[in-house]
Amino acid sequence: MTNSEKTIFKKIIDGEIPADIVYQDEHCLAFNDIAPQAPIHILVIPKEEIPHLDALSVEDPFLAAHMISVIQKITRDLGVSQSYRLISNCGATAGQTVPHLHFHILAGRDLQWPPG
Ligand code: AMP
Repeated sequence: MTNSEKTIFKKIIDGEIPADIVYQDEHCLAFNDIAPQAPIHILVIPKEEIPHLDALSVEDPFLAAHMISVIQKITRDLGVSQSYRLISNCGATAGQTVPHLHFHILAGRDLQWPPG
């Protein structure tokens, strides 16, 4: 893969562009969204290049379970575990702009429903 083909998130994983990282381990990375939609807006991504949620293998549930455990750790550490929204936009028509699986954690304000 040439550098220009890398997604912005792959460049963050590879340390080629900076991010405000709040958590990382061998399997995933979490960082503050550059355009926050709430006082807390964190993206949790796998280090493995998986384009979207539908491509996440359920044959090997480890990564899915691990990412949920990381989301629980982050929201508990921030004291918002009982008041947050988790979103994964799957596909451009659902609002996905970066083709690398990510979960948005939104918290810190009242959130309306339905989303736009
Ligand atoms: P989505 O529209 O669901 O694909 O979400 C992509 C998110 O990535 C958006 O909320 C962007 O604000 C965020 N984003 C894009 N570039 C960066 C970056 N360099 N650092 C942090 N967040 C970013």
